[in-house]
Amino acid sequence: MKITIIGAGPGGYEAAIMAAKLGAEVTVVEKKRVGGTCLNVGCIPTKALLASADVLTTSLEAEKFGVFNEHTYADLKQIVERKDKLVSGLVKGIEFLFESNGVTLVRGTGRLIDAHTVSVELNDGGLETLVSDKILLATGSVPICPELFQYDGVRVITSTEALSLQQPPKSMIIVGGGVIGCELGQFFSRMGTQITIVEMAPQLLPSEDEDVAKQVMRQFKREKIKVITANSVTAVAVSDTEVVVTLADGKTLTAEMMLLAIGRASFASGLNLEALGIAVDSRGHIEVNDRLETSVAGIYAVGDLINSPYLAHVASKEGIIAAENMLGHNKSGAHKAIPRCVYTDPQVASVGLTEKEAQIKGIKYKTGSFDFRSLGKAQIIGKIQGQVKIIVNQEDVIIGASIIGPEATDLLAELTMAVHLGLTAEALGEVIHPHPTLSEAIMEALHDVHGKSINKVKMRL
Ligand SMILES: Cc1cc2nc3c(=O)[nH]c(=O)nc-3n(C[C@H](O)[C@H](O)[C@H](O)COP(=O)(O)OP(=O)(O)OC[C@H]3O[C@@H](n4cnc5c(N)ncnc54)[C@H](O)[C@@H]3O)c2cc1C
Repeated sequence: MKITIIGAGPGGYEAAIMAAKLGAEVTVVEKKRVGGTCLNVGCIPTKALLASADVLTTSLEAEKFGVFNEHTYADLKQIVERKDKLVSGLVKGIEFLFESNGVTLVRGTGRLIDAHTVSVELNDGGLETLVSDKILLATGSVPICPELFQYDGVRVITSTEALSLQQPPKSMIIVGGGVIGCELGQFFSRMGTQITIVEMAPQLLPSEDEDVAKQVMRQFKREKIKVITANSVTAVAVSDTEVVVTLADGKTLTAEMMLLAIGRASFASGLNLEALGIAVDSRGHIEVNDRLETSVAGIYAVGDLINSPYLAHVASKEGIIAAENMLGHNKSGAHKAIPRCVYTDPQVASVGLTEKEAQIKGIKYKTGSFDFRSLGKAQIIGKIQGQVKIIVNQEDVIIGASIIGPEATDLLAELTMAVHLGLTAEALGEVIHPHPTLSEAIMEALHDVHGKSINKVKMRL
C-alpha cells in the first residue's frame, strides 16, 4: 500500500510513522520544517518561552525558600536562542524517526491532481509527481488576520513573530484573551512589557469554567496585566512608532505593538479541493466521516484542517486513526475526552463538560472540589493558588473536571482517563494517591463529591 501525506505537523507526521509501522510505503510532502505549527511556531516554542519565565519567577521568589540570588534578570534574546535550539533538536528528532521508519520526506508544496496523484513543487525547484493508493491531507491552520488589524509582521504581529522577538516591547495590546493571548500576555508581562488584553467575550479563556477564568483574571490583575472583556476592536491606526486601537465603547488604547490572537483558520489553500469535489464546510474545514475519510474515497483529512478542536494532541490522535483506517482498520475518529490545557501560571487544565455546559444540556450534576492551599505538597513548593473541581452526573460518572494550579496540565491525565473510560468518582476515589503529591488534590476533590474529603477546610457560616 502506497500512501502520500501532505503536511508534516503532528497530524501528518504521526500518521506517517503509524502507516509505516503498519507496513505502508509512505511519502510525506512538507513545504517548511517537519513538526508543523506545533513544533515550530506553536506548542513547543511557547512552552519553552514560558519555562524561562517560570525560572525567572522562581528565581525572583528564591528568598522565600532561603535561597539568595542577587543578579536575577531575563535576556529575551538568549531565551529565544534556547527555544530555537530546542525546536531544531526536536525537528531533527522527527526527521530521524522518518528515516528510521522508512518514511520518505519530499520538501515542497503538494497539490492534488486526482484521488491518487499529488504534484509537488519542490522547494529547490522542479516538479515531482507522487502516485499512491491513498492520500492524507494534514495541512493544518494559519492565524486569522482580518484586514481591519493591518497585520504587517512588525508592529502588528501574530504569535509566530511574537515567538522570535529579540527584545520585549515596552507595551503591547493583545487582541484575544484565549489560550494564546493569555500565555503570551503573561510571558511578555514577565519580560517587562506593559500588556493590555482585549477580549470580546465576558471572560478570559471563554471556553473554560467561569471560576477558573476568574482566578486567571485575579492573577493577571496582581501582575498588572490589564484585561478588558466584553469589548472589541473597531478601528486600528498603525504608525512607525505605535499602534492606536479604538474599542467598541469609543475608548482608545496605544501601544508599541499589537499581537493578534483571535484564532486560527484551517489552511487548504492551493490543495485543489474544488477540482476533486472534496466537500468543505462553511468555515473552510474539510468534511470527513467518522473514519476521517473525505467525500472522495481514499482521501483522508485530519487535524486543524477538519472541524475538531485545534489542538496538537487531537491532530496526532486523528493522524494515527486515519493511518489505521487507510490500512484497512475501522477506527472511529470521534473523541470521547479531549484535554484542554493553558500553560499560564497558575496553569489551567480541563476535560469534558464545564458546569455551565452541564446546565445548558439540562444534566443533573454534583461537584466536588479541593483547594491546593490545603495540600502539603502545594505548601512545600510554595504554589498554593487554585483548585480541582470535578463534575459528576446522577450516576456518579465523571463528566467533567477542571484544575487551576501547579502542574495542572500534567495532573489532568488521570481525570481525562476517567472521562474517557466513564469512571465514577467513587471508583477513582478508591485509588491510593502518593503522599505528598499534588495528585492528592484530585483524590480529595473526588471524595468531596460525596462530602468525604478528609482535608477539605469547610468554612463555618
Ligand atoms: C502559539 C500557539 C501555541 C499552541 N499551543 C498548543 C498547545 O500548547 N497544545 C496543543 O495541543 N496545541 C497547541 N497549538 C495548536 C497546535 O499547534 C495545532 O493544533 C497543531 O499543530 C495542528 O496540527 P496539524 O498537523 O493539523 O497542522 P500543522 O501543525 O499546522 O501542520 C501543517 C503542516 O502542513 C504544511 N503544509 C501546509 N500546506 C502544505 C502543502 N500544500 N504542501 C506541503 N506542506 C504543507 C505546513 O507547512 C505545516 O508544517 C498551538 C498553536 C499556536 C499557534
